[in-house]
Amino acid sequence: MYLKEEDRRLVKEWRNLAAALAIKAPFTSSILRKMKIVLKENMDASISVTEKGEIYINKQRWQKLSAKDKIFVASHEALHVALRHLERGKKLIENKENQSVAIWSLNMSADSKVNDLLYEEGIKPETIEVATPKEVAKLLNKDVEKIKKWSMEKIFKELYEKYKDFQGGDGGDGGGGSGGGSDISQGGGDIQQEQGDTVLQEGDVQNTQKMTDEELQQYWNEAVASAAASAKIAGKETAAIKRCVEELFKPKVRWQNELRRAIIEGMGNRTKSTWYRVHRKGIDELPGIQRLRTPDAWVLVDTSGSIDDQELKQFLGEIYGVAKNCKVTVIPWDTQVYDEITVRSPSQVASKVSKYMKGGGGTEVTPALQYVKKNAKKDDVIIILTDGEWFDEMRAKIELARMRKFHRILVTTHNVPDVPVDRVIKISL
Ligand SMILES: [Zn+2]
Repeated sequence: MYLKEEDRRLVKEWRNLAAALAIKAPFTSSILRKMKIVLKENMDASISVTEKGEIYINKQRWQKLSAKDKIFVASHEALHVALRHLERGKKLIENKENQSVAIWSLNMSADSKVNDLLYEEGIKPETIEVATPKEVAKLLNKDVEKIKKWSMEKIFKELYEKYKDFQGGDGGDGGGGSGGGSDISQGGGDIQQEQGDTVLQEGDVQNTQKMTDEELQQYWNEAVASAAASAKIAGKETAAIKRCVEELFKPKVRWQNELRRAIIEGMGNRTKSTWYRVHRKGIDELPGIQRLRTPDAWVLVDTSGSIDDQELKQFLGEIYGVAKNCKVTVIPWDTQVYDEITVRSPSQVASKVSKYMKGGGGTEVTPALQYVKKNAKKDDVIIILTDGEWFDEMRAKIELARMRKFHRILVTTHNVPDVPVDRVIKISL
């Protein structure tokens, strides 16, 4: 491809900047790499992004930015895309009475989330003014650490509720001007690449181009989770990164408590036998020093036809919550057992499990129970995620009664089947 001298220089400069970022900020860098970045000669807005990961930037404006600002602006837009702020934002502002305040609240909330991540990774702008959690905290008269923990939706709601009666032209004086103005509320659907544009990088748009909304969501979730995993490996996982991944997969069950309880109950059984052995062997072996095996978890996920998208998404969140505490083997089932998927870290939930979570078929849990009975070890934790509408409740009852050497947890969104388990947890969506 023929490139003008000037373009060649811009592309080369960008490559150097991006390479430096990869070392400094692996999380953002890993997400930014997936974006297509295009500089446009004639563009009304200064910046525009699409859900598929295209970032269009006004070329004249770009050339005026310092190196630091260039990295900041591109990273800022990349995170909006990967965190699905365009799509989430549309849902937030639709049907809001005061549209200008809604748009302002959206930009403030989305920008403060993105900028919190960037600042903690050391990516800061040089000359551009941006919205941060600190600014939101001031507006809402709240502690900044509290604001950082809030989701974008929660920040939006609080801002909108406080300012919705404000009638002020372009949407308040809260200083909502971000790196790209209202870069997410307008969307970039109508802008396309044209001849003469400068492509700084191609990214992964060839793949995202063909994706449906659902596939895109999965794609970006995976991108964020694996970016967080690389940051962790590099020893650069910040608190904001952790919160951000947490927001993608929100478990409703407090798995840390549940699993601790399972271990303690399991230990109770074991301690008795240990004491007995010590007595027999004599005093040279001290009691209480025993190697405790952390139990593995087996998660049986109901993927039958009655489970809707929202339930599947929540199940994914629960698996994420379990995976934070121990090794998990996930078994999707409807009337039969599908491939078992081993998850060793929370970030693998997005990359390995989500693609198998497709609903369909009837609901019989017995084959899945029999499978686990054969493969799990004593004291392992068996977790059933389901809506509780089982065709084979009687058989399941018999099967579960034979599984007392495991810790059995039933998590249900609707019906509670009458079966013997150690714990029933009902969650509402
Ligand atoms: Zn923004």
